[in-house]
Amino acid sequence: MNLILLGAPGAGKGTQAELLVEKLSIPAISTGNMLREAIANGTELGKKAKQYMDGGLLVPDELILGIVADRVAQPDCQNGFILDGVPRTLAQAEALEEKGVKIDHVVSIEVDDSEIEGRMTGRRVCAKCGASYHVVANPSKTEGICDLCGGELVIRKDDAPETVRKRLQVYHASTEVLKDFYAKLGRLRTVNGSQSIEGANEDILKAIGAQV
Ligand code: ADP
Ligand code: ADP
Ligand code: ZN
Repeated sequence: MNLILLGAPGAGKGTQAELLVEKLSIPAISTGNMLREAIANGTELGKKAKQYMDGGLLVPDELILGIVADRVAQPDCQNGFILDGVPRTLAQAEALEEKGVKIDHVVSIEVDDSEIEGRMTGRRVCAKCGASYHVVANPSKTEGICDLCGGELVIRKDDAPETVRKRLQVYHASTEVLKDFYAKLGRLRTVNGSQSIEGANEDILKAIGAQV
């Protein structure tokens, strides 16, 4: 089963991807995590992506398509994968179709902009594995330490309120059109993201016909 998680920054894509990885036993592919790793490792990709990410802008499509095509071709993706945060533009979505990357369900996690800022100010992410936490809604068992890998929890530079506002604008201007694109292909499933993490997860599983 090949899935796309779509939604505004802070809608809960990363959080839901982690739960789906466990329940569906398929890997999650987060372009945001891959790019942050590239920046941390000082690679060419990281150097090219950093300025865009710090400004809350999208990284150019060519860079994204290269890393996604390589990743979905890995053996662990044979039984399916979850794309978290990609595609984010019509060009990215069209390129996936052209490359023959088959998508079964596109789950749009819907959360009002007014709710996003509070989520972002409380977000903490693992510097090592990228797992996402919230100081109130989804705290780690030990403060500052990742439950999954023991890595250090940090605040993302682009979660500053002004950058979050920019990222929301970019979402509405460039990414939201993907809902129409996938609705026309009959693959769009819409889920209410303004409920508990568990509630949203149940709705996602129902929407993709994988109630477990
Ligand atoms: P969030 O989950 O909060 O929406 P991500 O971790 O997915 O954030 O992305 C962080 C940043 O990484 C984006 O603001 C953008 O600069 C870059 N990025 C991630 N995925 C893509 C993509 N598919 N296309 C372009 N830029 C991307
Ligand atoms: P995205 O990957 O879409 O940017 P995240 O999964 O990182 O979003 O979630 C953004 C923040 O909101 C994190 O701090 C996360 O713990 C929190 N969060 C996720 N889902 C919910 C929810 N249903 N209710 C409250 N907070 C949530
Ligand atoms: Zn971790």
